[in-house]
Amino acid sequence: MSSEANPFESLREQVDDAAAVVDADPGVIERLQNPERVLETNLTFERDDGTLETVRAYRSQFNGDRGPYKGGIRYHPGVTRDEVKALSGWMAYKCAVVDVPYGGGKGGIAIDPADYSEGELERLTRAFATELRPLIGEDRDIPAPDVNTGQREMNWIKDTYETLENTTAPGVITGKALDSGGSEGRVEATGRSVALSAREAFDWLDRDLAGATVAVQGYGNAGSVAAALLDDLGASVVAVSDSSGGIHDPDGLDPREVKAHKAETGSVTGYADTDALTNDELLTLDVDCLVPAALENAVDEDLAADVDAKLVVEAANGPLTPGADDVLAERDTHVVPDILANAGGVTVSYFEWVQNRQRFSWTEERVNEELERVITDAFDTLVDTYESNDVHNLRTAAYVVGIGRIVDAYDQAGSWP
Ligand code: NAD
Repeated sequence: MSSEANPFESLREQVDDAAAVVDADPGVIERLQNPERVLETNLTFERDDGTLETVRAYRSQFNGDRGPYKGGIRYHPGVTRDEVKALSGWMAYKCAVVDVPYGGGKGGIAIDPADYSEGELERLTRAFATELRPLIGEDRDIPAPDVNTGQREMNWIKDTYETLENTTAPGVITGKALDSGGSEGRVEATGRSVALSAREAFDWLDRDLAGATVAVQGYGNAGSVAAALLDDLGASVVAVSDSSGGIHDPDGLDPREVKAHKAETGSVTGYADTDALTNDELLTLDVDCLVPAALENAVDEDLAADVDAKLVVEAANGPLTPGADDVLAERDTHVVPDILANAGGVTVSYFEWVQNRQRFSWTEERVNEELERVITDAFDTLVDTYESNDVHNLRTAAYVVGIGRIVDAYDQAGSWP
């Protein structure tokens, strides 16, 4: 069963675990456990029937020591101030772990977008972009898609910003459609880094990915692409799920056909010749690799005791609570942490921004090659850090890398007399 753990408290614990190894002033560590600023705002927009509605929205700018704040915008009823603060912190550490020159940010609106028409979502998104305008910019803060947002919302935000600023600034946001300044390979980037991370981890552990069984929780952008690319690498994806439930076929699913079924019916459930299973059953299935790709806190310490997989690769942000991490570490189950495994999204967002600034587009082949280099280099650094420090899991090693790089940038900036 998923836990009610506060993701911001989880982030602070994760930083604390790593701080014991990093040589930094406690005051600097305290700074690295809190956002620099948080916008909390109420957005009023017109419903299709002419009535006005007001909803809560946030943007957290966690840390800008290494570059502009960077992070997605989520539309979900569970969005809270603390969730956005945690997600912005994870972005700061993620960018540092893959050595992308950004800080961390995150935003969200506390709505279920399924309750609104496209016109209502456009008015609401433009209202949010108007509130964000003084904070964002190509060199200041660069939003991107997250849960329940995609190219459509990014294009609206870009257009609102450019219109209000009377300029063209495609690099103000990433995850745009190709004709609006998007990058080849961006849609697949998060799932691609998950698959690459799994490949590197199997290799490090001397296990064979070909023929290994995989279960994927959450079948949206991150989960469905990861499943398809793991299948391409020879793994057998035997179970997947979404918010309506899961499906299981011990002989292996065709991830692309399951995706087509979800596009047609709205869910993976009901896919032909599969057994139904609950999300908790999927998370504790006897598989070689588990990929949580839905939301935070999918696995708490109680459920972790029943997780059978010997490797967990986190596609979602914060899918394991700190208690779950401890249980898995005790059982020698390795977890490739979110701040590396799903960093493909922000890495190709960075490539998109570079292309926007250069007004020059890369081929998909170049994007994928550069992404593979970034993820494999980051994985090597992670393993070196894990093996050469007294840390109890890969996550703490990743924080040691990330905190170290942010602290270096902070120190090098010097102090104001
Ligand atoms: P998405 O909206 O495309 O997909 C989310 C999926 O999770 C959907 O299939 C939904 O049905 C499912 N889901 C929701 N609640 C669930 C539950 N309780 N049990 C099972 N499934 C559930 O979102 P996404 O972009 O794929 O993001 C998924 C995760 O990956 C999030 O944690 C997000 O922050 C993270 N992430 C996404 C990107 C990206 O580029 N899209 C980048 C980095 C991290």
